[in-house]
Amino acid sequence: MKREDVISKLNNYSTVLSLLGRCTDDFLYILDFTKDEFLISNSAVDVFLMEKSQFENAGAVLERTVYPEDYPLLQKDLEMLKVGKSKVHNLEYRWLGKDGKPIWISCRGQVVSDDEGNAICLIGRISEIARKSKVDGVTGLYRENALLKKLQESAWEETKKGFLLQIGIDNFKEINERYGMSVGNDILAETGRIILDTVDKKGKVYRLDGDEMVVLMLGEHHEEEEPAKELYKEIRRRIDDNISQNGNHIYYTISAGSCYFELGEESPDKLVEQAGFALHQAKLNGKNTCVKYTQQVYNEYVHTLEVQEALREDIEADFRGFELYYQPVVDISRKQILGAEALLRWNSRKFGFMSPGQFIPMLEESGLIIPLGRWIAKTALIQCQKWQEKVPGFRINVNLSFVQLKKSDVLGDILQLMEELHIERSHVMFEVTESGELESNAACQVLRSFKQESIHLAIDDFGTGYSNLRYVKNMTFDLVKIDQSFIRNITESQYDYLVVKQFTELAHALNLTVCYEGVETKEDFDCVLELNPDYIQGFYFSKPLPAQEFEENCLNKTLDIA
Ligand code: C2E
Ligand code: CA
Ligand code: CA
Repeated sequence: MKREDVISKLNNYSTVLSLLGRCTDDFLYILDFTKDEFLISNSAVDVFLMEKSQFENAGAVLERTVYPEDYPLLQKDLEMLKVGKSKVHNLEYRWLGKDGKPIWISCRGQVVSDDEGNAICLIGRISEIARKSKVDGVTGLYRENALLKKLQESAWEETKKGFLLQIGIDNFKEINERYGMSVGNDILAETGRIILDTVDKKGKVYRLDGDEMVVLMLGEHHEEEEPAKELYKEIRRRIDDNISQNGNHIYYTISAGSCYFELGEESPDKLVEQAGFALHQAKLNGKNTCVKYTQQVYNEYVHTLEVQEALREDIEADFRGFELYYQPVVDISRKQILGAEALLRWNSRKFGFMSPGQFIPMLEESGLIIPLGRWIAKTALIQCQKWQEKVPGFRINVNLSFVQLKKSDVLGDILQLMEELHIERSHVMFEVTESGELESNAACQVLRSFKQESIHLAIDDFGTGYSNLRYVKNMTFDLVKIDQSFIRNITESQYDYLVVKQFTELAHALNLTVCYEGVETKEDFDCVLELNPDYIQGFYFSKPLPAQEFEENCLNKTLDIA
């Protein structure tokens, strides 16, 4: 069509539009580029901040009706349509309602052009998106979608740099459970308000799922000055002030994760994920703190997940790749090998040999130590039984993790095993590592029940935690294994020597036996002998060995001890 024809058709369009407008809840419109006229369904007057449904100065009217912050976005899009760079209009943005509050709308339209491709008008419809879906009812903040959109749009603007600060309320679930949802909601709303006030006009705040909100700051920031952390601290300070000003207020803390970015390098989803990951790290680090996202920590995290996955697969495949090694425990007074400590080894198909120091924490964290721990105890006890046929009275030491104590009926399992295998209780010793966890009531209770069943216990790595010997005594241990770190330099360090001497004397006074670990050389051995230990373990006698090698080299070995 020629230009004149298209223009003359416009009059007909407007008649059709006003008729159609009565049949739908949407608002139909025509924006005439040639005359700068705007025509919209009559019903729009009842909803939006406009007096009439037909205008001659479309630009000026739209500027008044559209939510100011969103107007540049619309203007930019219209400009593209007018100059023919695009034909389709499809935007979600806000208009002002009759009460002056923003209303989210979805606006679509199609450009009508003449034969030469000149844009004559835009015809389309506007529908109201329920405000709720855009704005969170509790905090009044925009939701995540709006954040993603903002990040997407900002990629075309000049300031592409910035950071996200994702904030979570610590123990929010407990707050909800303890005080009720409405108190939880009040805390959320109040936190949202404090964050908004702190950020002021410099950035934007959004609500994510649950107790999390996120601040978007665009612009050049000096990452090394950690502006995200400074912002976090300021928000935290204001929350604390707010709590102390309201006498009976519930005390709560916040954690945060930050991520610095340059838009275009990562997708908006990814950036939100990174900030969320950093927040998760902050929670793992004990909460009430702010952590910055780094690729390195993320890679380590992914690596841990992969190792855990491999551990799980191998455990499910009938403990594939796991093996116990055995290290002799030497009885000093009888000058012979008393028994062995069973030590776990893992040869992963994917990761090869990995040291237990690395993978045991992962087993503990994932709970996999429970099924594997059963296998360890069973394998070690069966081995002990075999060796007892050759060396009557041979003893075995098995390591237990506090996770097994806390989260499984480890004692029940052990008692059942011993009964099945007819192993005497006095021939097995369970080692638990000294740690704060041991002092929890639950752990104490389990350890006491070990004693009631006459199962022997050793406290491992003694001296590295905060246990004192009186506690060890009360806790029903039989043996104290002094940590290797004290033995390592014992020939040179007078201090270590005296500490070990003291530990030993005190333990003996309390009727506990003592084992030194990590005795590597003849010098170490001669030196520690003066201190009168009951048992010694270390490379000086033997490294931990596979069962077969242990049997060949250690089982019947006579020791050359002066
Ligand atoms: P741990 O129970 O203190 O075991 C002693 C560790 O010291 C073993 O390391 C052993 O190989 C090493 N070692 C022994 N003698 C010497 C020596 O003379 N010099 C030096 N430098 N090291 C010596 P490994 O086998 O790497 O085990 C590390 C830790 O992993 C163990 O420390 C224990 O806490 C844990 N672990 C090992 N096996 C198991 C298991 O079956 N269950 C549980 N829950 N933990 C285990
Ligand atoms: Ca041990
Ligand atoms: Ca140890």
